Amino acid sequence: MENCLFCKIAAGEIPSSKVYEDDRVLAFRDIAPQAPVHILVIPKRHIPSVGAVTEENSGLAAACLEAVARIAAQEHLDGGFRLISNCGPDAGQTVPHLHFHILAGRNMGETLV
Ligand code: AMP
Repeated sequence: MENCLFCKIAAGEIPSSKVYEDDRVLAFRDIAPQAPVHILVIPKRHIPSVGAVTEENSGLAAACLEAVARIAAQEHLDGGFRLISNCGPDAGQTVPHLHFHILAGRNMGETLV
């Protein structure tokens, strides 16, 4: 999609610190990390958010979750990780392209889920 930051990253038009890639999914390090490990997992094809997942595109969302599990093993996130997907303005979504934040490397406690 035109003028979508993460579509441009997926297309290689904007550089990223790549962690994982397959034919449907890309994962890269967040530019402003909020934990020692902060990785974004995106479908290469544009989906605006979790709120736009349908029967037609849910395979891509599932591919992202499969990638999350592979990345957790690859990055040795043995202490666990938090997975967040902000959806819409109240949740603080700033990039309207479906993405999952993998946060790890410190104890995040039991607040905010
Ligand atoms: P959200 O606020 O859930 O939409 O998350 C968007 C995330 O994208 C934020 O954590 C930003 O730090 C991150 N971000 C924005 N631009 C880039 C970029 N060029 N490369 C990597 N991460 C980015």
